[in-house]
Amino acid sequence: MTRLLDTVSDDQKVARPRHPEKAHRPDQPVARKPAWIRVKAPGSPVYAETRALVKAHRLATVCEEASCPNIGECWDKRHATFMIMGETCTRACAFCNVATGLPSPLDPDEPGRVAGAVARLGLAHAVVTSVDRDDLADGGAAHFAKTVRAIREAAPGTTIEVLTPDFLRKPDALEVVVEARPDVFNHNLETVPSKYLTVRPGARYFHSLRLLQRAKELDPALFTKSGVMVGLGEARNEVLQMMDDLRSAGVDFLTIGQYLQPTPKHHPVMGFVTPEEFAGYAAIGAAKGFLLVSASPLTRSSHHAGEDFAKLKAARKAAVAARG
Ligand code: SF4
Repeated sequence: MTRLLDTVSDDQKVARPRHPEKAHRPDQPVARKPAWIRVKAPGSPVYAETRALVKAHRLATVCEEASCPNIGECWDKRHATFMIMGETCTRACAFCNVATGLPSPLDPDEPGRVAGAVARLGLAHAVVTSVDRDDLADGGAAHFAKTVRAIREAAPGTTIEVLTPDFLRKPDALEVVVEARPDVFNHNLETVPSKYLTVRPGARYFHSLRLLQRAKELDPALFTKSGVMVGLGEARNEVLQMMDDLRSAGVDFLTIGQYLQPTPKHHPVMGFVTPEEFAGYAAIGAAKGFLLVSASPLTRSSHHAGEDFAKLKAARKAAVAARG
């Protein structure tokens, strides 16, 4: 009999599996985390306030939906990453804990609620991501753009980072997002090309790379950013090649973190990368010309995004000054 490990409730409060496509897969043993992976337990008063504000605005966060290990630390600083366009994703990536299935229609009031929460939290830098919405003609690009504009209006001093899906087979979607003038355009490659079919089967490596390149072509002032997980069975040389690919696409900022398996139905951890190996990746990435590389076991795409944005701006300024 299939064991369903995790469920969500739909509008009728009927429990259904979060990952119907994974429910029939055999369990994969969940590896014990090494000593260097230790996180702050959630539960501080500020964490509770952040949680209450997210709920009051009826918003979803990737922090919760993806079971991010950093939630105790981030929410204690009021840093939540908003996940727009619902809590149900149309893809079924092997690493991801966001629920999959047929999503609900878009909520036209959501951009305003996100903007209200950003203003109430007093965020210096807001990160907005989404589920994949392959069911929508524009992949949700216009909804992203509306959200960026709503935040600009409600919190003019806040810088904005969008972490978007790949908009595969959605012509002109990227243009709509870039036109809204976010400060950072982030799209995660997630893994090296040899792992796409098993880890990210609905996506195409070179399409994602081209998306990042095109974002920079459309607005050269935009900072571009991408993230990958390691520990999915990739070879070190593949990570180095991927860095070269990202530099060829003009990407400014790379994040590299350890993959952690959300449930026994997800892709197994194939290896734990040591802090020293992460430091090696950071040094190589810097030598390859990224303005910034954040690489550590608990690095996630939106982890420390505000502090990193300040570093990114300083690094660009220094690079421009060095060129004379
Ligand atoms: S790292 Fe990102 S997703 Fe994780 S808790 Fe922090 S803000 Fe949320």
